[in-house]
Amino acid sequence: MIDSHAHLDSPRYDEDREAMLRRAWDAGVREILSIGIGEGPETMHRALEISREFAGQPNIPKIRASAGVHPHEASLADDAALAKLDALLQEPEILACGEIGLDYYYDHSPRDVQKQVFARQMEVAAARRKPIIIHCRPSDNSSNAWDDVLAMLQSQWSRTGLRGILHCFTGEIRHAQAALDLGFLVSFAGNITFPKAQAIRDAALAVPLNRMLIETDAPFLAPVPNRGKRNEPAWVKEVAVTIASLKNLDPAEVAAQTTANFGLALDSPA
Ligand SMILES: [Zn+2]
Ligand SMILES: [Zn+2]
Repeated sequence: MIDSHAHLDSPRYDEDREAMLRRAWDAGVREILSIGIGEGPETMHRALEISREFAGQPNIPKIRASAGVHPHEASLADDAALAKLDALLQEPEILACGEIGLDYYYDHSPRDVQKQVFARQMEVAAARRKPIIIHCRPSDNSSNAWDDVLAMLQSQWSRTGLRGILHCFTGEIRHAQAALDLGFLVSFAGNITFPKAQAIRDAALAVPLNRMLIETDAPFLAPVPNRGKRNEPAWVKEVAVTIASLKNLDPAEVAAQTTANFGLALDSPA
């Protein structure tokens, strides 16, 4: 399995990062994409450092990284932060720009700033020919952030011929469909196991297996039966098992296909 989205640089792993990575290996995880948003632009390089720290070590999954400014921290994305992002995207271990996008649920940065910073990061990623990883969360009972994200992808990203990933998908089927039409992949996280998450399971049923990824978003969103605890990549297995039971497949098939999809999403043009 590949965990396509984990925050391995979280301070919550400082005490046991290596043991946590070994548990992932033992659970069958062979690769992890370490998301490089840090605690803001100042630490967005930490994911890359972790990728290098564990490179080539036996019984530890291969760690690749991303870099980007999360919409929560959009207000901090000054010219220096964007120059840092541009430099990071030229490193061979960095496979993608992200997570970037819009979050109208928390509104930690003003929406117009979020949009501006999302657009500028898409420009940097396009110039460096890197795919993007999208974070999108609308206000309650609204699809406002989806409407804006999809419109911006259509106007600004589709012409690049590059791919992208909708991470931790919680939107409606029509949003997933619009993203699939743009050549994106849709990634499902541990919240797909939550009893009240029928809408996420409905979306996962609608997304073809050859267009989906699995992730933990660790340390957040630990799946059942570990809900509420600190999440970790070993538990991506619960996501694979849930998708397999929804689609009446063997979990090994979900693991193999999502692994193949990861290469498609991050290593080839749309
Ligand atoms: Zn996110
Ligand atoms: Zn994340």
